[in-house]
Order: sequence, then structure tokens, then C-alpha cells
Amino acid sequence: MSGLPETLSEALAGRFGERFSLAQAVREQHGHGESHHTTAIPDGVVFAETTEDVAETVRLCAGHKVPVIAFGAGTSLEGHLIALNGGISIDLSRMNSILRISSADLDCTVQAGVTREQLNNDLRDLGLFFPIDPGANASIGGMASTRASGTNAVRYGTMRENVLALTVVLPDGKIIHTGSRARKSSAGYDLTRLFVGSEGTLGIITEVTVRLYGIPETISAALCSFEDVSQAVDTAIAIVQLGIPVARMELMDRGLIAAVNRYSGLDLKLEDTLAFEFHGSPASVEEQVAMVRDIVRDNDGKDFEWASSPEERNRLWKARHNAFYAVVSQRTDAKGWSSDVCVPVSELGSCILYTRELLKECKVPAAILGHVGDGNYHVVFAVDPSNGQEMAEVAAINKQMVKRAISVGGTCTGEHGVGTGKIAYMREEHGDAVDFMALLKHAIDPSGIMNPGKILP
Ligand SMILES: Cc1cc2nc3c(=O)[nH]c(=O)nc-3n(C[C@H](O)[C@H](O)[C@H](O)COP(=O)(O)OP(=O)(O)OC[C@H]3O[C@@H](n4cnc5c(N)ncnc54)[C@H](O)[C@@H]3O)c2cc1C
Repeated sequence: MSGLPETLSEALAGRFGERFSLAQAVREQHGHGESHHTTAIPDGVVFAETTEDVAETVRLCAGHKVPVIAFGAGTSLEGHLIALNGGISIDLSRMNSILRISSADLDCTVQAGVTREQLNNDLRDLGLFFPIDPGANASIGGMASTRASGTNAVRYGTMRENVLALTVVLPDGKIIHTGSRARKSSAGYDLTRLFVGSEGTLGIITEVTVRLYGIPETISAALCSFEDVSQAVDTAIAIVQLGIPVARMELMDRGLIAAVNRYSGLDLKLEDTLAFEFHGSPASVEEQVAMVRDIVRDNDGKDFEWASSPEERNRLWKARHNAFYAVVSQRTDAKGWSSDVCVPVSELGSCILYTRELLKECKVPAAILGHVGDGNYHVVFAVDPSNGQEMAEVAAINKQMVKRAISVGGTCTGEHGVGTGKIAYMREEHGDAVDFMALLKHAIDPSGIMNPGKILP
């Protein structure tokens, strides 16, 4: 049963016809992301096709003080999409047009529902690519909203560095444009960066302008294994500290390698492993490889194993991207719980060793992986959400990881965002700045209709 006011339901049905759904199955599908968090379903779903569709939906909901929750691709991991107070889920997946690509300026503007794989497929023939790569085939609007990053961030930055401009529908239904296509600007408050990472709590992004990059002349990928995770981490830290511009540097502990081998039919050595990708001219790649090789040797790493052809490379990164599902598949009916802390890179070694100690007594299948070049790492657990004791055990480990990260100057979430899962740590991380965030939220969304119950305590 939908809890919507009848007048709102009628108005949405009148405006959107079949693009407004009250069907249970559709609502269920929009009440969760990919994580272990309990589903809470919205009262209805609007499939938007234009900025004006979004604005009209928000205006109607604002008139009834009914919550609105933007839905991109539904891949978020911290309970971002759960409709705690019901309301309308605005599904942006049909807003999937690439509006403009400029090879000359290395930028493009897309509707928010365009996915990163769709964008890269269209860019490939132009010799361009969009590097932000959270593994999942997320929407560009969703990625902007969670300030996503992923495997390429060590070289190309996160959504924070790569979004130039936005079109946003505000909580009263007004449409604004933030930023510009200029690479830099000193013109006033940086509203683009206010909305990037705001998880749909301040407005709904309908168009995004992002930076693009030329596909590098040479791309090569290699794996390198170590007998102990600390050697792998020391290698990663030295590479960052020497400023070697690796494009990817991913840690996979031996538990993850076992899971990935099983899930993706690979035959990787069962050791703690770093996976690298090098981008550049042939000479620059050669130089990077030589420098990295020396550091690997200094840390007793084994010889590189190359994934030389594009097919081998794709296979390797696809397996890495499926790591979450590889861990989850170790148990029937399990859900994934991915922790996500980020620390100054000099603290990474001690934090990972601390995490490994925490995991020693843990009975839940778990593996450590990380975008270690950024100091960002995860433990993926395969949990049974119906087992209270198990959930409490994982929650306690997650909490200790977060506390340790914050205590060394890090953050409770490097890239997945706050959603509902990290709210409890916001004050510990930000202190009184949380009150300032609440002030901003209230000024922009006084009725609190934008994705309520997320980010702020
Ligand atoms: C296997 C797997 C691996 C992952 N790896 C990574 C990783 O390496 N790095 C990383 O950063 N993330 C990772 N994620 C998490 C996820 O892919 C990102 O959080 C992604 O940015 C979410 O995008 P989405 O389109 O799926 O958004 P959704 O899940 O649909 O939404 C996420 C949040 O953004 C809001 N939102 C969505 N669209 C808009 C919009 N247009 N305007 C305003 N608010 C909006 C929603 O309301 C919600 O709060 C991974 C997820 C999975 C399942």
C-alpha cells in the first residue's frame, strides 16, 4: 500500500502516466542499493526523462512535504537509497543522453543517468576516456552525488576533481546551473563542490559536465605478489612517496585472490598482491615500470606477471571489479558489507596490519582490498543479515577500523559515502562542522524532503 497523499498520487499519475509507478515490485527495487542494509521502499517511483520532469516531480512533492530520493543505478553501498520516510524515488536511468562532447576542450556534458560504461563506449572512437571507475556500472549523476572514485583515482583524481559544472533541481523545484566549462574560476562560492558528495540531500543533479582525457598511447598492467601484506603496502607507500605516476595500484590480500580465482576462473598466485596499471608514452611507461620494479625488489616482491594484451588486461580488471561479488559468493544468500576507510598514506601500513589483527578472530568470510595509492582500503564481508550476532561482530570491526582511521587523520569513508551507514561517525570526524553542515542543509531544504535520514545525524 502506498502512503502517498491522494492528491499527489493523482497529480503524478496525470503528469507522468505510465512513467509513475505504484507497483510493489518496482518500489521494492528502488528501496535498496547493493549492500546489507535493510530495504525500505518508497511510496512510488517516477521515471524522469528530462530536467523539467525532475523539477515538476520535486515541486509536486514539495507542495505535500513528501520526501524525494534520487535513484541513479542503485549500486551504492551505505544504505543511501532506503526510503526511511517513504516518499517518491525519482529514477534517472532514462536520462541517458550524452549531450555534448568536446575533443578540443576535453570535456563533455551528460544527463545524470548516463553510466560510466556507456560514456566510455561513446568516447572510445574519439580516442578519449572518462577515468573515474568505481567498478560498478554506476550513473554519472550517482557518482557525482557520492563523490565516487575507484581504481584510477591515484592518477586522475575523484569526482571532486573531475566535475566542472552541474544542472541541479533544488528542493523547491527551481533549476540552477553551477560552475562552468572553464578549467578554473574564482567566481563566488563553489556550489559544484557543494553538490558533489551531497548524496541527493540538497538537490537532484540532472546534468553533469566532466573532464575527459586522451586514451594513453601505451597501457600496460602487471601483477606482483608478496609473502606478506606489509611488504605490499610498503611498496605502495614508496611508490606514492616517490611520485611515480602509476594509473592504478590495487591491493588484493590472499583471501581475496582465492575468492577472485574461484569466482572469475583465474589462476592467480595465492599471495598478497599488488595490481598495477601504467599509462603514458612508451618511454614513460618503461621508466615507470623500471622504477616500480626496483621498489618491488627492495620489498622482496616477486617478479612482475604481465597482462599484456587488452583482453588479458580487461579480464584482470573485470575480476578486480567483481571482487565484492567474489567474496559475497562464498556463502549462499549472503549480502556484502564493505567497509571503506581512507588514511594518510604514511599511516596505511599500520592501519592495514591493525585491520588484519581485527580479522583474525572473525568467523565471517572477509577479504582486504584497497586503492592503496590513495590510502583507501576496504574489508568486504559476506554477511548473513538475519544473524544478529554476526552483524554485531562485523559492526564492531567496522567501528574499530573507522575509529583508527579518524584517529590518524583519516576519514570514515574514502569513496562510498555516508548514506545511513556512516552517520554515527560524522561528529567524531567533523566535530562542530557537522552543525554547520546541518545549517546549510536547513537553509537549502527547510522542509527536509531531500533524501531524509542520510549524511547528517
Ligand atoms: C561491486 C561494487 C564496487 C564498488 N566500488 C566502488 C569504488 O571502487 N569506488 C566508489 O566510489 N564506489 C564504489 N561502489 C559504490 C557505488 O558504485 C558508488 O557509490 C556509485 O557512485 C553510486 O552510483 P549510482 O548511480 O549507483 O547511485 P545510486 O546508488 O543510485 O545513488 C547513490 C546516492 O546518490 C544519490 N543520487 C543518485 N543519483 C543522483 C542524482 N542524479 N542527483 C542527486 N543525487 C543522486 C542517491 O539518492 C543516493 O543517495 C561500488 C559498488 C559496487 C556494487
